[in-house]
Amino acid sequence: MHDKRVALVTGANQGIGLQIAKDLAANGLTVLIGSRDLEKGEAAAQSIGADAKAIQLDVTDRESIATAAERIKSEFGRLDVLMNNAGVSRAKLNQSFEDAVKTNLLIDALLEDVRTVFETNVFGVISVTQAMLPLLREAPAGRIVITGSSGASLTLNSDPTNPHRNMFGNYSASKTAAHAVMLAFALALEDTRIKVNAACPGFTSTALNNFNGTRSLEEGAREPVRLALIGDDGPTGTFSDENGSVPW
Ligand code: NAP
Repeated sequence: MHDKRVALVTGANQGIGLQIAKDLAANGLTVLIGSRDLEKGEAAAQSIGADAKAIQLDVTDRESIATAAERIKSEFGRLDVLMNNAGVSRAKLNQSFEDAVKTNLLIDALLEDVRTVFETNVFGVISVTQAMLPLLREAPAGRIVITGSSGASLTLNSDPTNPHRNMFGNYSASKTAAHAVMLAFALALEDTRIKVNAACPGFTSTALNNFNGTRSLEEGAREPVRLALIGDDGPTGTFSDENGSVPW
């Protein structure tokens, strides 16, 4: 069995996921860079160093997920941390952010686009978590973190004074569902050593928002990384950002 703790980060070839991977490696973990494009994953792993290895992982592809789980088991014999970070803000990659904001509203969104976004942001989280659970259950202190979004908070968006709530659409609804999925895993695993939490990185400059975000990658990765490294006295079933608890 591998002697260091092993973390898998989905969607780690760029953005917040890559920064999470860098920070976990800096904390002494071996980090598996989940990337649907293996070459991009390998380039990202090289940018971190010997403690990072690329692994092909498309969170919407069951075979890819099963192969990744098998490889982690045979090559490392353990998985301590799962970072469910992969996500899309729009169904079509070549769509501009501004256009995506408009077609993201559920009054206009095409059902196939809604399905595509949910496939990655919601069903992807469930499939990857289920596939990795046997290894996480064996870990002395398994941790699961999902990169959530305060923009998907039902409480904050129900407040008429919230200036951002006119953007609540397909993407936000998928992240709200992902928070619910995270809570469901946390509750079902309450009797185990595994802790499951959601972390909002804040509005971070990445491809997801055409680099309109105002926070750096280092800032965005902080809360997910903190929750990945919590001790046995840490929480489970919570949703937080760097300033503390976020309402569901
Ligand atoms: P990003 O730079 O676009 O990164 C998204 C990552 O997810 C990429 O590596 C992407 O891979 C990967 N991905 C997409 N679909 C995938 C699939 N089917 N299988 C595997 N990987 C897939 O954006 P980011 O901002 O860092 O996003 C990371 C997470 O943070 C997302 O869950 C997002 O919802 C969340 N978040 C971001 C913000 C923000 O302000 N940026 C705020 C709140 C929450 P490719 O490179 O192949 O596309």
